[in-house]
Amino acid sequence: MGTRLGVVVEAASAPEARKASENVIREVERLERILSTWDPLSEMHAINTGEVGRPIAPGAELAFLLAEAERYSRISGAAFDARIGALVDAWDLRGAGVVPGAGALLGARKATGPRSISVDERTGMVTRHMAAAWIDTGGFGKGAALRAAADRLDSASVDRALINFGGQLWAHGRADKPWSVYVAHPRQRQRPVARLDVHGVSVATSGASERFIEIDGVRWGHILDPRTGRPSPAWGSVTVVSADPLEADALATALYVMGPKAGMAWAAGHPQLDALFLEAGDGALTASWTRGMEQWLIDRPVSSTPHSQTQKEQDANHR
Ligand code: AMP
Ligand code: MG
Repeated sequence: MGTRLGVVVEAASAPEARKASENVIREVERLERILSTWDPLSEMHAINTGEVGRPIAPGAELAFLLAEAERYSRISGAAFDARIGALVDAWDLRGAGVVPGAGALLGARKATGPRSISVDERTGMVTRHMAAAWIDTGGFGKGAALRAAADRLDSASVDRALINFGGQLWAHGRADKPWSVYVAHPRQRQRPVARLDVHGVSVATSGASERFIEIDGVRWGHILDPRTGRPSPAWGSVTVVSADPLEADALATALYVMGPKAGMAWAAGHPQLDALFLEAGDGALTASWTRGMEQWLIDRPVSSTPHSQTQKEQDANHR
């Protein structure tokens, strides 16, 4: 999936720890063979290059994942939509980057979204309606792989484990032995600004700081707003904590596209996930978080108002 995987396992013995970490790696490799859009031999690639107009039934696991992605697209009002392949191409997001001309952008927009590819949310059946249309698994693939890998850790011999897949984490452990993870400043990767003590959950951050393309001095992020066909502005980052890694992955991307205000309002209405928004203005960092985030938040974001306006509003709603 074009990223790195790091695994730390604490187990009763070295061989058990090694076995558990190898299981994780194997599981991630297995998901990669299904989902990767970089690997021409993956199942996803076969579907993405399949005949236009002919419905394809993916294997059970992929069908399930695609149906899930479809659901996240629906509930996020298309802030998340994996059917953005044509726009990834138009902006050359996997290459040096290019700002598409008006015609190219229009064409790419037509070849994205529900009209370009239909995915049956019940069966996962996929039909491509346009040759330029393809499904980009980049917004949920890491989460899917993490979830599968996390399931393999549920053995009695594993005490604690931390999987880092391209910056998204799965923290396997117990309440009395949580993992401390740090959320970086959205503009300065090396600078931690918040500490979360987590266990039994996944932590996913979406932002424009790590990956972007630069064209004539202007930075464009790698996260696209499917509703406009343009990369989302580089406003900061959003970190999502959820017991379901795929949910954390997809919804971090969705909340990033929504932006800190609309994203916070949306997150507040979905208490199964916790979200932390870091907005990087000129010099100042503004943090806001959902009420549920407080259970993980140890060191609160520095150089920020601990309770932003949004947080206060939420507290009021809870009373
Ligand atoms: P993440 O880093 O998890 O936020 O995912 C970003 C990746 O997901 C990008 O590199 C694209 O491959 C893909 N992507 C970009 N924008 C979207 C979107 N709005 N919905 C779904 N996937 C997206
Ligand atoms: Mg994501």
